[in-house]
Amino acid sequence: MFFYYQIRNHPHKTVAVPEITCPLCHTAGHMEMNFMQKYAWVFGPIAPSGKFAMAFCDHCKNHVPAVRWTDEMDTVFQLHKRELKTPRRLYRGLIVFPLAMVAIVGAIILVTKVKGNKQQGNQALVKEAIAHPRKGDIFQINQSDGTNTNYTYFKVASTRGDSIYMYPSTVHLTDMKDMKQWDEIPVADDAYEKTPIAFSIKQAQTSDMFMYNTQPTQYGIVWSLYRDGQLYKKY
Ligand SMILES: [Zn+2]
Repeated sequence: MFFYYQIRNHPHKTVAVPEITCPLCHTAGHMEMNFMQKYAWVFGPIAPSGKFAMAFCDHCKNHVPAVRWTDEMDTVFQLHKRELKTPRRLYRGLIVFPLAMVAIVGAIILVTKVKGNKQQGNQALVKEAIAHPRKGDIFQINQSDGTNTNYTYFKVASTRGDSIYMYPSTVHLTDMKDMKQWDEIPVADDAYEKTPIAFSIKQAQTSDMFMYNTQPTQYGIVWSLYRDGQLYKKY
């Protein structure tokens, strides 16, 4: 996150100081001073700082740089500066800035919560799909034998009693770098083996994974459900 800010000048006043002789053209009666003040601007004026003046001679049409100021000019500047009050509006950002912060933080919390709710909804849906699978449902599976892990898919073929028959995918991703590719669910039949494997629905419901009847134990953790063209991710 970054904040855009600017340094701006607030003009206080312009005063004629005819008693001053211009240090550039040595003519009196044509000098004026513009009093200003710097402040930062973030969502509004904030942090007013130094007051300063620009001296201008209407005779030679020059701005007199501060290094050329005479003692007389310094004295006049100090006298006027003392009377300048920092306007209250230059502190307005002190109110606006925290309010903007609260709004930003609130928006982040809301987005996080909405995302969390969506995940909870998806978790319920995946749970329901394991209990009552539909032909064509595809589960995104994190497959493991305890040592090796790969990322693959199971496509529901049919169910009978406690048994769910699924075609394991021939696609096996092994690198976490391919996670984005993992979310591109293959739907075509040729991305799946011809023979379905049977799993216990009850076992899947209690452990949240499909257990193979093999030794050593192999299992597939259910990561998400792909149904009717939509991917419902649990995490
Ligand atoms: Zn001058």
